[in-house]
Amino acid sequence: MDIFEHEQQIHDDALKRAAEAYKSVPVEDYEALAKQYGKLLKQLRRATKFADKTSIGLHESNLDLEDKVHYDALTGIYNRRYMEESLQRIVKSSVRSGKVLSILLLDVDYFKKYNDFYGHGMGDDCLKAIAKALSGTVMRADDFAARYGGEEFIVVLPETDEAGAELVGNLLLESVRGLCLLHEKSDIENHVTISIGSTTVHPMRGEKYTDYIKLADEALYLSKQNGRNRYTYKEYNKKTEGVVQ
Ligand code: GH3
Ligand code: MG
Ligand code: MG
Repeated sequence: MDIFEHEQQIHDDALKRAAEAYKSVPVEDYEALAKQYGKLLKQLRRATKFADKTSIGLHESNLDLEDKVHYDALTGIYNRRYMEESLQRIVKSSVRSGKVLSILLLDVDYFKKYNDFYGHGMGDDCLKAIAKALSGTVMRADDFAARYGGEEFIVVLPETDEAGAELVGNLLLESVRGLCLLHEKSDIENHVTISIGSTTVHPMRGEKYTDYIKLADEALYLSKQNGRNRYTYKEYNKKTEGVVQ
C-alpha cells in the first residue's frame, strides 16, 4: 500500500483545480510546481522506507541485546541478572501455588590456589568447563544454573523438595569431579572439586528471595568448614542443618 496515496490524490486534484482557476496562467508554471511536488513526494517515500528499515534494525538489535543481557560473558551460561529476575518470578508463582523451591549455591574449592599455580587463563577455562558440566546436569525444563559471580554458581530448582535437591546436589558434585581437572594445589583432592550449600523453602508472601540465598550461603559455609567437596542442606523455617558427604 502506498501511504502517500492520499497526498498524491491531493496533488492531482490541486492540479486540476489550478488548471481550471488559472486558465490564463501559463501551463509551464503548474508543470514546474507539479514536478517539484512530485519530487518532494519521492523524497518523502524514500525517507519513510529508510526510517522503516532503521526501526526494524533497531528492534532486532534490541532483541539481540535483551538476549545477551541474560548470559555470562565468560562461561556462556545464565548470569546473576537472569537468576535474580527468574527467582523473583518463581518465588511469586510458588507463593500462589504453594509449591516448594530449592536453591543451591556452589563454590569452587581452593580456586585461588588453582589460579596462582596454573594461571588466570587456565582458571578461566576451568570455570567454563565447570559451568558446562553444571548446566548439563540441571536438566528439568524449569531448573537452571547461573554464574553467581567469580567462582560461585547458583542452581535453582522450582517445585523440588529437599530429597530432590540432595539428589541433584550429589549429581552436581559428581559432574565436576568427573571432569578430572588436575588441581595439584588442592588440599583435599588432586582434581578440581566444588562445595554446595542448599536450602528448600515454602515461599510465603513478604519473604525475600535474598533471604533464601543467604541460607544456602550459610549451608555452603558449613560445607567448606566440614572439609569441602560436599553438599550441606539447611532448612529455611526450622533452620536445621544436615551434612551429606
Ligand atoms: P575456598 O575453597 O574457600 O572457596 O577457597 P578459594 O581459593 O576458592 O576462595 P577465594 O574466594 O579466596 O578465591 C576465589 C578466587 O577466584 C579468587 C579469584 O581471583 C578467582 N576468580 C574469581 N573470578 C574469576 C574469573 O573470572 N576467572 C579466574 N580465572 N579466576 C577468578
Ligand atoms: Mg568464593
Ligand atoms: Mg572458592
